[in-house]
Amino acid sequence: MQNDIALFSELCDELFKEETNQPVANPISTSDLYQKLDLSLNGNGLIDEDLKNILKDIIKSTPKTASKSFFNQLFGGRIGKATLGDLLAVMFNNSMYTYKVAGPQVGIEKQVLKNICKLAGYSKNSDGTLAPGGSMSNMMALIMARDAKNKSIRAEGLSKPMTLYTSAASHYSISKNAALTGIGKNQVRLVNTNNKGEMLAEHLEQLIKDDISKGLEPFFVNATAGTTVLGAFDDIDAISQVCKTYNLWLHVDGAYCGGVIFSNKYKHLVKGLENSDSFSVNAHKMLGTPLSCSIIVTQHKDQLHHSFSNEADYLYQTDGDDFNLGKTSLQCGRRNDALKLWTLWKSVGTKGLEKIVDKQFEMAQIARDYINNNDDYTLYSFDNSISVCFNYKGISANELCTALYENSELMVGFGTFSNTEFVRMVTINSLLEKEDIINFFKTLETFVGAHLLKNVTT
Ligand SMILES: *Cc1c(COP(=O)(O)O)cnc(C)c1O
Repeated sequence: MQNDIALFSELCDELFKEETNQPVANPISTSDLYQKLDLSLNGNGLIDEDLKNILKDIIKSTPKTASKSFFNQLFGGRIGKATLGDLLAVMFNNSMYTYKVAGPQVGIEKQVLKNICKLAGYSKNSDGTLAPGGSMSNMMALIMARDAKNKSIRAEGLSKPMTLYTSAASHYSISKNAALTGIGKNQVRLVNTNNKGEMLAEHLEQLIKDDISKGLEPFFVNATAGTTVLGAFDDIDAISQVCKTYNLWLHVDGAYCGGVIFSNKYKHLVKGLENSDSFSVNAHKMLGTPLSCSIIVTQHKDQLHHSFSNEADYLYQTDGDDFNLGKTSLQCGRRNDALKLWTLWKSVGTKGLEKIVDKQFEMAQIARDYINNNDDYTLYSFDNSISVCFNYKGISANELCTALYENSELMVGFGTFSNTEFVRMVTINSLLEKEDIINFFKTLETFVGAHLLKNVTT
């Protein structure tokens, strides 16, 4: 193992070098992949030297999500102390289901959950767990809401249609989860948004009333803190009023931007969060930990237990339920996703996490200012969002993003809202500085000047 650690360290050096020298890896087309890289698995193994060389080839052509040219997704960058925690978790190789097997790691997870509950403004009855990602966190919320509405569903299954509500701008996992949980995709009502992508509470109420008048059973509302395209925040206060009137479970999907709970400057964006029933946040997005680190908390500890616990004599042999975390998780064996957030949090403090979040908004403002001061750009996103959506010289966003990728210039994606397609630049890498943001635009402009404009008919 010592040799492998040394090899790992050598490979990391190689990766760091590549991230600087070739921040956007030359993409290999899918049809060439198995010719260009030896990914084959064979009867005979390789000597270490050959394995190392293949790994180096793979490092070269793997997309560099921690580079300064990566703006493509709702994660990016690499924060050392968080990565350290994840590497340690791999070495420990505990499974989080019991205290017997995970020991202090259970305490670490519980501490993270407790502090997140507190920041969310949740009561003493709150608890939570870590799920394999934001989609699964949303599914856990949906299951708790379903079971809270009707206690017998866990045993008997659904007996009548139940309806749920989420905005048209929300994440696709809501309708996917409706399918997975037996609720049915057709029972998902898409609530209209305003031009900023924020859910309209009046329309929500109207949809609920319509369903009640048809004899259906509304049970769940999903509000989003940071919609996937525009990065918009639904008005939790207004939505929670509606939920209270009709006795519906309110979940706040903060996978993308729920991290604002750490920021005194931006936590107003989730005002009213303390009135929600559950809340999820992906630390691997705004807080910059490695994937995955998705946290779901609820004010109804009993419900979490009711929906997810199962007796299993072969597993739970010591200690109480409070320390046997398998009683409240989706999985049985479960990797330790809490440690990477804990090592980061412990090392920089809550104040350091606040800085990480604030930095992203600061970088987004720099990007918006640049766009607003340059007539060649049109801005489509709004203040208080770290998704900066724009078009340049009327060039198709799809074509532009694809060309930037194929020519190894920049990794950035595109999105659509109200039938308009635009580039979506995400300033989620808190290690970036102003010059990196300006450099993004300069790279784009130089590239368009040299390659693309001749193809554009305006
Ligand atoms: C990213 C995201 C999710 C899904 O999270 P995964 O960890 O990718 O499963 C859910 N909701 C929103 C708003 C997101 O941005």
